[in-house]
Amino acid sequence: MKAVTFQDVGVIAVSDVAEPELLEDSDVIVRVTRCAICGSDLHLYHGDIPMMPGDTCGHEFTGVIEDTGSSVKLKRGDRVVGTFHTACGGCNACLRGEFHLCSSGAVFGYGPIYGSLNGTQAEYARVPKADVNLRLIPAQLEDEQALFAGDILTTAYGAVKNAGVMIGETVAVIGCGPVGIMAIQSAFARGAARVLAIDLLEERLNLAASLGAIAVNGSTSDPVGRVMQLTDGEGVDAVIEAVGGPRTIILAFELVRPGGRIAAVGVSSETTFEYPLMQSLTKDVTFRIGLANIHRDIDETLALISSGKIDPTIVISHRLSLSDAVEGYDLFDKRQASKVILIP
Ligand SMILES: [Zn+2]
Ligand SMILES: [Zn+2]
Repeated sequence: MKAVTFQDVGVIAVSDVAEPELLEDSDVIVRVTRCAICGSDLHLYHGDIPMMPGDTCGHEFTGVIEDTGSSVKLKRGDRVVGTFHTACGGCNACLRGEFHLCSSGAVFGYGPIYGSLNGTQAEYARVPKADVNLRLIPAQLEDEQALFAGDILTTAYGAVKNAGVMIGETVAVIGCGPVGIMAIQSAFARGAARVLAIDLLEERLNLAASLGAIAVNGSTSDPVGRVMQLTDGEGVDAVIEAVGGPRTIILAFELVRPGGRIAAVGVSSETTFEYPLMQSLTKDVTFRIGLANIHRDIDETLALISSGKIDPTIVISHRLSLSDAVEGYDLFDKRQASKVILIP
């Protein structure tokens, strides 16, 4: 079968690889119908995350179940969306509902550090513990509408939840890439009255504004001054940081009101930053950072997509054949594509 494989830093290929087989009785084999290139795939593309040459990439996917292990309740022919990482459903973390902290979890297509699980930018994929790690796609949704529930949408939604956004609040979203756009939709879906969308690129801000957000262009204005102006000098109730790295986290501390909450969800290759200790203390800020708990929130995001409150497909800029994945990575890496879907 065809699969997108890592070859070397900055080099991926579409290769012929062996079809996956059932290894455990809780596995299924999925025929992939849609997969996407995620911002975090660029970390392995750039060599920040070690991959072995020949490893299959990719972790956002929908598909149809082709074959099931003997203990699986899902059935052949079921249309499913996968979570980007696996959880076992039975360890202490999973039993606490902290599926993202599963002691034996692995990320699809993310190399040896993340469990050496084959990726899903491929014609077929093996999904371990299938009943835990797959969800049925609601009948009224196309696969493409459900695709991002397994990763970027639910990551953004989880951040809005972790920031404790309440009805009527004002929320700032830093970064209007795909995750930021989904955070804007999620904040409105959870009752935010106003969302202030901060980015440097006009094009991204236009998309944010089309969703009802107030655009704040950080390249032509001082975002702190503008946000203070819009909030009577107080700051916002909650900030979703969707860029990653010290600069935008520190900006979040500037934008949040006293007593407010920050949820940082951007992935960065930086390992540390200078924490604004005194500002955090005097403002009594709640700062939360962590990986998304997809399994906790995916049923809510699928319901919000089904009810039309969230439309994740608006971030898609390119739909390419799986065979054109090299071009897709190149476009995405050069920021000439906002989100690339690959169709096997
Ligand atoms: Zn991802
Ligand atoms: Zn577990």
